[in-house]
Amino acid sequence: MLEKLKDHFKEVELSCSKCGKVMEEGERFSVTLIMPAEKQMPVGQLDKMLAKRAVNITCGECSGR
Ligand SMILES: [Zn+2]
Repeated sequence: MLEKLKDHFKEVELSCSKCGKVMEEGERFSVTLIMPAEKQMPVGQLDKMLAKRAVNITCGECSGR
């Protein structure tokens, strides 16, 4: 499961919307999402879903941990 998650993160780069830092493995980050309608519930790879859906992504430092 963890290996799979790591692979997924290699495909799309998620970067901090404040400082532009690219999220790396094991790093903590915050994401702002809008709750989707039940029928449009996002599925699939986490990074791709976030890249598409996230309103805001901030790294641990910018989000104040
Ligand atoms: Zn940042």
